[in-house]
Amino acid sequence: MWPDGIRCAIAFTFDPDVETAWITQDPAFAQRPGPLSLARYTPRVAIPLILDLLKRQNIKGTFFTPGKVAEDHPAMVESIVAAGHEIAAHGYTHDPPSALAPDIEQDHLQRTKGILEGFGVEVSGYRAPLFEVSQNTFEFLQRHHFIYSTNMMDDIKPYRHKDLDVVELPVSWLMDDWVQFGHGEGLEKHSTCAHVLQLWSDEFAAIYELGGVFISTLHPQVIGRPSRIKMLDEFIDFVKSHEGVWITPCAEIAKHVRKTLE
Ligand code: ZN
Repeated sequence: MWPDGIRCAIAFTFDPDVETAWITQDPAFAQRPGPLSLARYTPRVAIPLILDLLKRQNIKGTFFTPGKVAEDHPAMVESIVAAGHEIAAHGYTHDPPSALAPDIEQDHLQRTKGILEGFGVEVSGYRAPLFEVSQNTFEFLQRHHFIYSTNMMDDIKPYRHKDLDVVELPVSWLMDDWVQFGHGEGLEKHSTCAHVLQLWSDEFAAIYELGGVFISTLHPQVIGRPSRIKMLDEFIDFVKSHEGVWITPCAEIAKHVRKTLE
């Protein structure tokens, strides 16, 4: 499955949801500057810190961006593109496709691809808000020329969706920072960095032994706190201490395995 000399692949992925995660969940947030200031942390502080870390570590990541976020924060997207990272789709607003009518889901997908491609990049990947794909999502992805999805939790290795030319890069809540550091109405959790570093290191080491893929799902508004950026830096060092690890954007993994899965 992997290129010669490679034993395991890992992608560092970031979901800059900014305001959409809050306002889609409850439109009343639009009138609440306090909670919304947390969203604003993403373009102001978190993205610059993340881009700096990735540059220092010489890593290219993937940024799953809602179309509305790209419209509202074009300078943020431009900075990500200028640094050479992959941009992929993450809904138009932050509405999960499983709660949308099929024509609306398709419209969001198509519209977002167009908006993101307006930044001069190829958009070939998709992550549903909250990983909540619908019954139609994979078919829609093929129809609109996406080559991969990264939403499902049913494997540790990439696979191809049945009867479709769409690769799945499987995820897990275990590799998602929101579960550990999430903040929101009804969800307050502030794990220590040491705990999360241990959790992700153990999982990475085990996936490495099995020759799988590690797709980290990180949210700038939570991973972007200074102490957590330092923890992520340490985690990257741990990953790099293994031989034969392919650290690359999701699209590169998908393009490669797509050939091997034919
Ligand atoms: Zn999201």
